[in-house]
Amino acid sequence: MSDKAALEFGCPYVPAYSNRCNRLKGESGFCSQHTGIKCCVCGKQATNECNETGQFVCGARLCDDCEGYREKGPSGAWGLLNHDHREKPPEKRRSVIVPMTKDHIS
Ligand SMILES: [Zn+2]
Ligand SMILES: [Zn+2]
Ligand SMILES: [Zn+2]
Repeated sequence: MSDKAALEFGCPYVPAYSNRCNRLKGESGFCSQHTGIKCCVCGKQATNECNETGQFVCGARLCDDCEGYREKGPSGAWGLLNHDHREKPPEKRRSVIVPMTKDHIS
């Protein structure tokens, strides 16, 4: 138990098609390289990169609450034509407590 959290390894950032970064992390909980990287959807600290692949890997920065998705239809020459990013629906988010609904009672 100490206050020296600044000298811990284990940056949780996961680059596209890579393993978790795991470098020395600072007060932000991320390493210096990944601190301040913003989610392309909501602007929060990004934690991973989009793995969607067409002719290339999308690699967009995403936080825990956002995801890449693909709409139905042709994917286009670059393979990412119908691919975009959005906030996850509430039930898929980790940081949001999903309110209880009355549906399961009936
Ligand atoms: Zn990192
Ligand atoms: Zn986000
Ligand atoms: Zn993407």
